[in-house]
Amino acid sequence: MKEKIYIVEDEIDILELLCLNLESAGYRARGFDTALSMLKRLDHDPPDLLILDLMLPDMDGFEVCKKLKSEPEHARIPIIMLTARIDLEDKIKGLDYGADDYITKPFENDELQARLRAVLRRASWEAEKNVLQISPDFKLDFNRFEAFLEQKRLDLTLTEFKILQILTKRPGWVFSRNQILDLLWGTDKIVIERTVDVHIKNLRDKIDKYSGMIKNVRGLGYKFEPITEEDGETHG
Ligand code: CA
Repeated sequence: MKEKIYIVEDEIDILELLCLNLESAGYRARGFDTALSMLKRLDHDPPDLLILDLMLPDMDGFEVCKKLKSEPEHARIPIIMLTARIDLEDKIKGLDYGADDYITKPFENDELQARLRAVLRRASWEAEKNVLQISPDFKLDFNRFEAFLEQKRLDLTLTEFKILQILTKRPGWVFSRNQILDLLWGTDKIVIERTVDVHIKNLRDKIDKYSGMIKNVRGLGYKFEPITEEDGETHG
């Protein structure tokens, strides 16, 4: 599948040129002229890479970068910063904020393409390390916060995915409802322990034939136990 690249750039000529160049290099490109319009789309349709201009009308590119890199569900999206500034200090600042690479305007298309390929290659190595194959047809992708069952992406909420992440990190360990809430929301939590049961019930429904892997330990909490086919277990 073609990689999806988002470009945020308020200079429309440059934006159109970038989209055109990327499309002709075989990527799917989508341009945004403000940071907010891109951020709005990000949650339900994340890209494989983001090209981000620093000087934007609505937000500072550094702030956009810092924000994304601090959010676990977006931190894995590689960012190439694009800027007219040639200041070394700015380059260092961008990299400190977690940008993966830097291009100074005006740039050569060949250089941009080469850097893009390098960043995408690095990202895909990273991605491979972050996949948990629970069984041959059930896997969790911690970069994308997505779970796949029989080749299909499960429609999990972020909270459901995070619960799955918590439980699968230590198979066999029992987590109390309160521990799960702490790991989900830290000290900010305003929800009650019953909330965990509701999320787990929905999660079990969605993971369908593997629902038995999430076990309720009476009086204590929940644990995750992978089921091998020989076990022949169904529900716990
Ligand atoms: Ca600009």
